[in-house]
Amino acid sequence: MPSTKKDYYEILGVPRNASQEEIKKAFRRLARKYHPDINKDPTAQEKFKEINEAYQVLSDPKKRKLYDTYGHAAFEGTGQTQSYTQDIPSMEDLDFLREFLSEAFDLGFESIFERATRSRRRSGTRPFKGEDIFKTVEISLEEAYRGTTLELEVDRLTECISCKGTGYDKDKGVKTCPVCKGSGHVVQRQFIITISQTCSNCRGEGILHEPCKACGGRGAIHSRETVKIRIPPGVDNGSKLVVEGKGHAGRHGGPSGDLYIQIKVKPHRIFERRGEDLYLDVWITFPEAVLGTEVEVPTLSGERIKVKIPAGTKHGDLIRVSGYGMPQLRTSKRGNLFVRVNIDVPKIGFMDKMFKDGKKLEKLLKELTEVLPEPERIKEK
Ligand SMILES: [Zn+2]
Ligand SMILES: [Zn+2]
Repeated sequence: MPSTKKDYYEILGVPRNASQEEIKKAFRRLARKYHPDINKDPTAQEKFKEINEAYQVLSDPKKRKLYDTYGHAAFEGTGQTQSYTQDIPSMEDLDFLREFLSEAFDLGFESIFERATRSRRRSGTRPFKGEDIFKTVEISLEEAYRGTTLELEVDRLTECISCKGTGYDKDKGVKTCPVCKGSGHVVQRQFIITISQTCSNCRGEGILHEPCKACGGRGAIHSRETVKIRIPPGVDNGSKLVVEGKGHAGRHGGPSGDLYIQIKVKPHRIFERRGEDLYLDVWITFPEAVLGTEVEVPTLSGERIKVKIPAGTKHGDLIRVSGYGMPQLRTSKRGNLFVRVNIDVPKIGFMDKMFKDGKKLEKLLKELTEVLPEPERIKEK
């Protein structure tokens, strides 16, 4: 045999110090992928031969030791690997594959014979609903106020058109179950008793369906869809919306799952929301607080409104403007807008530099102090 053969460890993709368990695992993984009964690619056959040969050597401690010492030369001319390289072992012929098959479905073995078989074994062909999809969307407070329509990109599983969601390839038809060879049952001998059991691989049907190429037997394909979502006025942080039927596709004629949308409302730069009410801070001067005034304030509707600040307003007082809060979901009512009054306190030193009237202000304030009544310095709560 020429020495151009690939390294057995490389073939299995394991390190030279791999444990027997790791070697077995690597082989199983590759066998699932390349066994010619599974993989119809013409190169798969060669690939599987290689994998099988590497496994036969590395899984046997004696052969592995020889290989580690002498390389491929260890088996040259001995015919030891002959049987593995000359022909493809069939699933039935190989002990390890038989063992592997019986475990296969427990291992979550998907590509080999098709999911359809598996889902039938799990839930028969009863229709079942597709899985739901959950998404979070972020909107502005203005959008929450007015309501909006969003176009959301959703990755969903939709029914495979090629197989109409069955997962089978209708044209390719079926093939004989390799475990029971089509009989639908397996015979187990225990001492002198022979037990015949329904074949678990094909559920007694004796056949396996060829998986649909388009969807790999899942019956559904990934697709990206733009889903339009109407967000009603008044939604709040944490509000949830459901778009029925926009989740993943169902199976065996079952309905699609739903699309759940959680709303996140971004904080606003000037308005603060508390339920249906909005809060807005305004600043007035001390004389304005004493004498009363009118201020123009923005609202979320875009309209600017005049708000009367009565004489004697204290710092922190709230002025309620009804009807300018957030809309209530499902009603036409609106909450309140609370205008929180803040009294601006100028810094004299700063005014000195900035305004020509700084000195005048200082003088007036001193005069004012003389006429202002002394406040009650400490007040009981
Ligand atoms: Zn399909
Ligand atoms: Zn069978």
